[in-house]
Amino acid sequence: MNKLCKEIVFRGFWFTSCGRPAKRDGFCGIHHPDAVAKMRAKSEERYARKNAELDAKRNAAIRASKLAELAERLIPLIKFDTTFGSGCLAYFGGDKESQDILRELYEMRKQ
Ligand SMILES: [Zn+2]
Repeated sequence: MNKLCKEIVFRGFWFTSCGRPAKRDGFCGIHHPDAVAKMRAKSEERYARKNAELDAKRNAAIRASKLAELAERLIPLIKFDTTFGSGCLAYFGGDKESQDILRELYEMRKQ
């Protein structure tokens, strides 16, 4: 008679052997500690990768929203001088608010 896997699983209303034939060290291929550790490592890796993706998406969204906010504040501060040189020159008045916004935009280059 084939020995069954010694892992105990909850099935419906009671705990019972997993029911698969024992292949190595009294466990089936799924419940052998090596296989369980391998599956756990794979799952943790998948979880970490998913988390990194979510972090990247969230950071991109935060950056986009910050850029939009700075642009909204900066647009009314843009001045135009059509008499300057050959064409239309847009510039900022050198006021503190413009400088603060431009500094924040400058800082965002590194992120
Ligand atoms: Zn098993």
